[in-house]
Amino acid sequence: MTTATPTTAITDIATLVTNDPSLGEGPLGLIRDAAVVIDGDRIAWVGESSKAPATDNRVDAGGRAAIPGFVDSHSHLVFAGDRTEEFNARMSGRPYSAGGIRTTVAATRAASNNVLHANVGRYVAEARRQGTTTVEIKSGYGLTSQDEARALTIAAAHTDEVTFLGAHIVAPEFADDPAGYVDLVTGPMLDACAPHARWIDVFCEQGAFDGDQARAVLTAGKERGLIPRVHANQLSYGPGVRLAVELGAASADHCTHLTEQDVDALAQGETVATLLPGAEFSTRSTYPDARRLLDAGVTVALSPDCNPGSSFTSSMPFCVALAVREMGMTPDEAVWAATAGGARALRRTDVGRVSPGARADLALLDAPSHVHLAYRPGVPLVSAVWHGGTLT
Ligand SMILES: [Zn+2]
Repeated sequence: MTTATPTTAITDIATLVTNDPSLGEGPLGLIRDAAVVIDGDRIAWVGESSKAPATDNRVDAGGRAAIPGFVDSHSHLVFAGDRTEEFNARMSGRPYSAGGIRTTVAATRAASNNVLHANVGRYVAEARRQGTTTVEIKSGYGLTSQDEARALTIAAAHTDEVTFLGAHIVAPEFADDPAGYVDLVTGPMLDACAPHARWIDVFCEQGAFDGDQARAVLTAGKERGLIPRVHANQLSYGPGVRLAVELGAASADHCTHLTEQDVDALAQGETVATLLPGAEFSTRSTYPDARRLLDAGVTVALSPDCNPGSSFTSSMPFCVALAVREMGMTPDEAVWAATAGGARALRRTDVGRVSPGARADLALLDAPSHVHLAYRPGVPLVSAVWHGGTLT
């Protein structure tokens, strides 16, 4: 006896972004008047609505657009408290520095597991309502072996994409001994954390970790089977991007201050440049130049970088709009970066596309075209989200 899961056809989609050029027009593989068939947690069929096969259930999209669920490859969701006062002060003229993270470290250490679980769940749900169906979550507000391992365990309850960021800043207890903190991160803390994470990250920046320290952290992580990703070149020029490419990192994140050598390294390597325009928006800083990266042939991803200090937004549509308005991306490029680009940054082939075999993650927009994500900024266009075949 076989048990078949009920199949569902979503029909009358005005514009479907598949991100599979073999299925439709252009790099986004656009199909007009499209339908998508979902079987269990997978996409079973994609094509013109008039040719859709018979299914158990049918959902009429009513001429809306559909896109792959957004793939958010960079978030810091395991934290307690917020930093409203810091933001308010910064918007009154005080510059951002990496030190504000310590405020969140203190609040996070003091919080119960239940509080942290509830916070992560709330932000993941908030992102989901805005079309995000895959989210990476980092630690980095514990900065002791026990608190970092706790953060990773909590993150792992909400996602498969868990990143150990013990090297976010030097823990306050090691303010006078940064080398001692690097020894902790690459030693006992890594022992406690490696079993709970897929990725290792480091904030390579003045005031955080220099190139040699970042190299030590990432190399130790690689030896334990973790794959590197790097907070690189956010606040200043530095070695982060070239280190990321050299060590085969999946992603160099921020990429705001880049030399020609940095751009060349990204263009020649496998490392995705993940741009986080919410951070520049929320700190009144200069945006990264996405146009320059794209013209050089670099693979670009977008993420909101949701965190309580420098970018307290979970909204990928907001980042798509910023990328188009402020970073020289076309609407098509920005939507690709927020979906397929994020999947590349997480080395995932089962998400970021709507094509047969992919996980059934898609968002329906209350608009006839994905271009409206940039054309109608700030408008809540996401009207329905399927995650693993389930309408959420
Ligand atoms: Zn970050």
